[in-house]
Amino acid sequence: MVPSPHPSRRSSEEPSPTVSQTAPASPPAIRTLAAADAVDLHLHTVASDGFWRPAELVDYLADNGFTVGAVCDHDSQASVLEAIRQGERRGVTIVPGIEVTTRWDGRQWHLLVYGIRPDDERAEARPFLEMVETTDAAFREIARDARQRVEASGRPLPSLPAVLARTGTAMYPVHVLRAMIADKHVPRLKEAAELVNALGGKFTIDNPLDEVVEKAHLAGGICVIAHPGRPDLGPALTADVLEGILASVPLDGLEAHYRTYTDADIAFYRDLAATHGLLASTGSDSHALKTPVDPRAWQAIWAQDLLGRLGIEVKPREDGSPVWAPGMDPLVVPASTEK
Ligand SMILES: [Zn+2]
Ligand SMILES: [Zn+2]
Repeated sequence: MVPSPHPSRRSSEEPSPTVSQTAPASPPAIRTLAAADAVDLHLHTVASDGFWRPAELVDYLADNGFTVGAVCDHDSQASVLEAIRQGERRGVTIVPGIEVTTRWDGRQWHLLVYGIRPDDERAEARPFLEMVETTDAAFREIARDARQRVEASGRPLPSLPAVLARTGTAMYPVHVLRAMIADKHVPRLKEAAELVNALGGKFTIDNPLDEVVEKAHLAGGICVIAHPGRPDLGPALTADVLEGILASVPLDGLEAHYRTYTDADIAFYRDLAATHGLLASTGSDSHALKTPVDPRAWQAIWAQDLLGRLGIEVKPREDGSPVWAPGMDPLVVPASTEK
């Protein structure tokens, strides 16, 4: 039994897959947003390690007044087309996205790539979409391998079918890790991943940053470094490191607004983006309700130039106040709790 590379396109919440699959791919509607319209440009679904099914995510966005959301699963676009269809149903513009795991200078960087549809049939899109497909197949293979290693080490995984049923997708490494937790072999994802490594398996794959950006650009995609101020993949991005990357890799932007940032972080990354002529993006990185956060109502104008590149116009503020200033974001992390 060979799992489909894009299993969640046929996920169970979709009432009539035949109709949806043959519906014409309509171009994204041109939209004009007010400056303070709510947008969230970094959202995960069941296509990677999130729990949002596309319809649930879009319903949440519509019910909470969002005008634009970007579906950016890790190394997968399996939810993108369904989310776009659901967005058309609910009046939410869904930007096609993906968060590609990349490698540069010996560490991983998460790269948000916006604006490439997985059903793009142009020759220019082939290298990028083929890279995504190849990586997807490799992830399914390392999941199979990790499961085998864990079970062979005397740790049965009876919870695995239930873990998979919850997301309705093929088996990816995160599902093996979750089953290891559910079956009480390890307390958390961190220890699960460490155990897989200790057993000789792996749970992550990365592609060279320069190659990913080159293929994304050929396809017309926009490349934004995700959560540059989050220090858990490696140190937070500094001005010097950004200059080093830009010397050989033509990035397009930085995620200058993120759920863990203080106003000082936002100021730093907005300034850094402006200094290098880069776009600013805004993302919660929501994986489900309260996981770790709900989608967040970022003001459209904070990502004005990026949205413009995606064909979404954002009007200037009517009162002439600055695009962003400290204190404007009611959900910003207070400086006193800065890590
Ligand atoms: Zn990330
Ligand atoms: Zn993410």
